[in-house]
Amino acid sequence: DKLKKGLEKTRQSFTEKIEQIIVGYAKIDDEFLDELEEALIMADVGVKTTDYLMKEIRKGIKSKEIKNPEDLKPFIQKQISEILGGTTVKEKITDDTPIVILVIGVNGVGKTTTIGKLGNYYKQEGKSVMFAAADTFRAAAIDQLEIWGNRVGVDVIKHTEGADPAAVAFDAVQSAKARKVDVLIIDTAGRLHTKYNLMEELKKVTRVIQREIPKAPHETLLVLDATTGQNAINQAQIFSKAAGISGLVLTKLDGTAKGGVVIGMKAELDIPVKWIGVGEGIDDLRPFDADSFAEALFI
Ligand code: GDP
Repeated sequence: DKLKKGLEKTRQSFTEKIEQIIVGYAKIDDEFLDELEEALIMADVGVKTTDYLMKEIRKGIKSKEIKNPEDLKPFIQKQISEILGGTTVKEKITDDTPIVILVIGVNGVGKTTTIGKLGNYYKQEGKSVMFAAADTFRAAAIDQLEIWGNRVGVDVIKHTEGADPAAVAFDAVQSAKARKVDVLIIDTAGRLHTKYNLMEELKKVTRVIQREIPKAPHETLLVLDATTGQNAINQAQIFSKAAGISGLVLTKLDGTAKGGVVIGMKAELDIPVKWIGVGEGIDDLRPFDADSFAEALFI
């Protein structure tokens, strides 16, 4: 399927490397373990995760769960499943209408596309959806969101370019309440490297939403571009200092060899990956599932 196909390049950089090492050795020795460690680091899983995996592998060897090189593949798959496990948490259970999802992330990571796909996902689930264009900095951002709104059949609350993002958010929450919309998805600005303080803006948007719905936002999703590997982890660290991120969306997993970053994310940040993007199409956003991800890495 699409997940397996999307992870093809990651599989080449990750699993096939591991396989080559396994095939090349008749028994497990220090040289074998060194090569394996290097392969894990090269696959963007990060130093922390690699250290952790190597420790578990050594334990596995000691306990005889791993007896020869071929035992490693299923062992690593299981470990990855476990590292990523417990991440299939859905939104907080609440009777609030609407459920508010705040979507944050720097420009170009696939934020607007993700919002469009998310809207589509919830609509498929029979929910009514509304978008709010609170990235008022660029007119193009508002236009893009409207294009997705039209494509998916979702109303977009917008003000003009340069308007106060918090005012857009407030307006959207009020409209969504009045129209009894199930899910309100709010787009936010994504320019991290300007004098202007994005983090303060996000806090203000949050405050204004909470004035209307105290438990909102029910979900704050940070969108990250998987193709940027370690840089995505750095972005997440910056954002998580300022906003309470409840989940990550990793986009563009298709066509990148850096899919191992999904595993690194969990270890470095301890924020669950909730969605993954595996293409540009409307259906190419998947709720993240640890077992299917690990399985797709190891087919
Ligand atoms: P924004 O600036 O963060 O809002 O980014 P956009 O949503 O405009 O997306 C930037 C580009 O990334 C567009 O060309 C999208 O089609 C593309 N994109 C977004 N998500 C994915 C994905 O999961 N896979 C692929 N291949 N492309 C994606």
